[in-house]
Amino acid sequence: MSALAVEHDAINLGQGFPDTPGPREVVDAAVAAMHRGLNQYPPAIGVPAIREAICAHQKRFYGIDLDPSTQVVVCAGASEALSSALVALVGAGDEVIALEPFYDLYQAASVLVGASLVPVRISAPDYALDVDALRAAVTPRTKVVLLNSPHNPTGAVLSRAELEGIAAVAIEHDLVVLTDEVYEHLLFDGEVHIPISTLPGMAERTITVSSAGKTFSVTGWKIGWATGPAELIEKVLGVKQWFSFASGTPLQHAVAVGLELPDDRFATLAGDLQRKRDLLTDGLRDLGLEVYHSKATYFVTADIAPLGETDSLAFCRALPARVGVAAVPNQVFHASPAGVETQVRFACCKRDEVLADALLRLRKL
Ligand SMILES: *Cc1c(COP(=O)(O)O)cnc(C)c1O
Repeated sequence: MSALAVEHDAINLGQGFPDTPGPREVVDAAVAAMHRGLNQYPPAIGVPAIREAICAHQKRFYGIDLDPSTQVVVCAGASEALSSALVALVGAGDEVIALEPFYDLYQAASVLVGASLVPVRISAPDYALDVDALRAAVTPRTKVVLLNSPHNPTGAVLSRAELEGIAAVAIEHDLVVLTDEVYEHLLFDGEVHIPISTLPGMAERTITVSSAGKTFSVTGWKIGWATGPAELIEKVLGVKQWFSFASGTPLQHAVAVGLELPDDRFATLAGDLQRKRDLLTDGLRDLGLEVYHSKATYFVTADIAPLGETDSLAFCRALPARVGVAAVPNQVFHASPAGVETQVRFACCKRDEVLADALLRLRKL
């Protein structure tokens, strides 16, 4: 869809990336680190400054205690952290349970190691998790429960009750929980992010993944990390060092600065995005689409059935040429498109005038 957007000079509300430079202190810190000569290989586990900043961040926001020398590993984005964890923990014939819709990497990485992804669907309009369905998906081959909250593409946030249900299943079946929390700071309307590792009995079986990309609007930096018990983090590191080995020394130093920004700066990032979520949601509703409530993330999901459309895949393929806007069909985040044939994901992480222009273009529909 991004290629089609470029081809037709369309506004790209498909791929989720912001169009502003990110917090000035963070960008300045990257430039300063480069000029200080911090441009050579970092340790595979990550430079000490960012490991200490990640641990301090987990303590400040969630009360989680971590040892920066053994319980954190810095990766080339959350992507590498997630794929390294799956390669480390899952083998041929194993099963990974994931919430459906799922971020496309989850299925690709599972297939790569010969495992299968077992979807447990959350559905519009409220995207509630049926914990009994999750429990029923567990088999003797299940190795990992892969969570994503706040959730891309739906903007759902797992509640404490849902997390407690998942934790009970994981403990009962001795499963590892791999949790993708890259949108941990981008929640709206007073919603609260609860890391599942903070629930009783979960710290020892949870690998938590996050990234600087979404929080600081620097998706091209690809600085992510995994935190968790030393035995599991050692396994992630053991794989990751044969993938990228290490990456982004000056960017790691800059992200350390970002993670130490005061609380109100994190709140501002979410507040700005909430206003954009409202702009896009209201605008799409004005056009006659059904828009589901997004509690978090860069995205809102809309239903195009009220426009007389029947297939979001065909709709999104044609949209850049038709009106000059790109979006993503939610079908691509599903193992089976049944029930979501007319859902489309739009990114709201763009400048207000860009969102306004996109909505104006969509009027031609
Ligand atoms: C963007 C995204 C990622 C990838 O993060 P990177 O740090 O860019 O690798 C992983 N998971 C989800 C749900 C995402 O939206």
